[in-house]
Amino acid sequence: MNQDSQAVFRDGRIETVEDADAALTILRHSTSHLMALAVSELYPDVHLGIGPPISEGFYYDFQTSHRFTDEDLSKIETRMGELANENLSFEPSILSKEEAMEYFRAQGEELKIELIEERSDQILSCYKLGQLIDFCTGPHVLSTDQLGVFKLLSVAGSYWRGDENREQLQRIYGTAFFTREELEDHLTRIEEARKRDHRKLGKELGLFSVQEEVAPGLIFWHPKGAVIRGIIEQFLRAELEARGYQFVYTPHIAKSNLWKTSGHYEYFREHMYTLAVDDEEYVLKPMNCPGHIMIYQSAKRSYRELPMRLAEFGTVYRYEKSGTLHGMLRVRGFTQDDAHIFCSPDQVLAEIIQTLDVAEFILNAFGFEDFEVALSVSDPDSPKEYAGNPEDWERAETVLAEALERKGWDYQRKLGEAAFYGPKIDINLIDALGRSWQLSTFQFDFSLPQRFNITYVGSDSREHHVIMIHRALLGSLERFMGVLIEHYGGAFPVWLAPEQVLVLPISERHHDYARKVTEQLAAAGLRVRADQRSEKVGLKIREAQLQKVPFMLILGDREVESEAVSVRDRLKGDLGPSSVEEFAAKVSKLVEERVVSSA
Ligand SMILES: [Zn+2]
Ligand SMILES: [Zn+2]
Repeated sequence: MNQDSQAVFRDGRIETVEDADAALTILRHSTSHLMALAVSELYPDVHLGIGPPISEGFYYDFQTSHRFTDEDLSKIETRMGELANENLSFEPSILSKEEAMEYFRAQGEELKIELIEERSDQILSCYKLGQLIDFCTGPHVLSTDQLGVFKLLSVAGSYWRGDENREQLQRIYGTAFFTREELEDHLTRIEEARKRDHRKLGKELGLFSVQEEVAPGLIFWHPKGAVIRGIIEQFLRAELEARGYQFVYTPHIAKSNLWKTSGHYEYFREHMYTLAVDDEEYVLKPMNCPGHIMIYQSAKRSYRELPMRLAEFGTVYRYEKSGTLHGMLRVRGFTQDDAHIFCSPDQVLAEIIQTLDVAEFILNAFGFEDFEVALSVSDPDSPKEYAGNPEDWERAETVLAEALERKGWDYQRKLGEAAFYGPKIDINLIDALGRSWQLSTFQFDFSLPQRFNITYVGSDSREHHVIMIHRALLGSLERFMGVLIEHYGGAFPVWLAPEQVLVLPISERHHDYARKVTEQLAAAGLRVRADQRSEKVGLKIREAQLQKVPFMLILGDREVESEAVSVRDRLKGDLGPSSVEEFAAKVSKLVEERVVSSA
């Protein structure tokens, strides 16, 4: 199949697919049917779930008592290749609901019957590929000789419809591309991502752990991870305070009436943890906004106090299904770098520009230069129940667009993607592997100011509703840390590295000098440790390399004599001798300038 090849639709119509992404999706989806055919031949007792294309390939869910192994995957892949060579065609047919039910009942395909039963329309479609008839709306490639190159990647447990109370299934993941070269590139990227997996590196580098037995979905920050988090928090705090933000702390639990006023109790209930205190229901905070509103509303506010920018490293808890949890990236408790800006309408543009500036500055500091920016706005043609009045919306959307234009940023305008309570800007950053991560958000809110009746007294001595903007730059510290670990492959730049320098004495008689050098560097403000174990220096270097410590100082007779150090860089290797002062000055400069070396 080529980028502009043909697809067969459910009514038998054949069309050329010109969009390359659409063609790739059809290719992958068709390949998942081929996999289902191979699996149902090789393992006649399997029942079929669903087999959709996904962003990186495709999967199919199978119900069987057999446990698929890696060997099985290569057997299935081989059979897929043989079947593909038979040039089997994808033959669509339109059936009545009864005909389809009858067919799948005779096959014992209960899961398919459930899908068909839910259909309200009386007409549906199936596709026949070889001996396999599958319930599907298509479209597909015309025949298997149009399929490209494919590879089965892994098998994982899953549940029917993602519901842990339903049938347990096995999901086989695969991917497919038009050319061998694209597939090889993809596999290389997967391998690189595996090496950089933050869960693997987090353990190897002693940064964090997740302890399933006691706290699934929650992060234990170990000393080295906590050093990095501390630096990120201090950096952010200083930059925000310099821009007029005021830091606050708010309670982790509050009575449910607060969450009823905010609307979360009604709309966000399934993600909220509640507990009883003195016979009253309390909520473990899933958001920081109501707390900041309480602080704003603790006094009557005048226009002279605006804009008020309240910031908090606010830890929140949200229930997520256990199957969706993933290391630091998808968790049940996390700390947002949260802030709420309360301002008057004439201050909004300046505020948005300031937040975009600071986001750019902060993300650049961590070495992210590529962004994808999206502006989510309302859709006037299909009005939902939007909070606030249309003039507020229009003004907010105009301001957001104007701020983006003044920044000179390209952005995608997403019509109808705005939340019911306001339009927003999202910044996705692109990491070292070209993956996109949604981190920064600037969100207008026309709902909470009404619900809490948040006002200020204007210069006209009258009360006005305040404009409220939620904003987060890193999103959450947990997720950001996960992204950073993978972006740097664990090799943190010097300013973030939990250990910047390891001092490695060659033998016992160099220990005194090693201690002296260590103290000197610590006094210069560097994070330094001496490895005084009686191991060979070669082994100490290898371990330091694995721990991705930026600099190693090797100390032997020559260094003691000349009162110098031999510097080794984790990337460039041996850098030769240096005086302690000179080395300290060089590293301090890297820290101060937050130099991000290429990892
Ligand atoms: Zn299909
Ligand atoms: Zn908020």
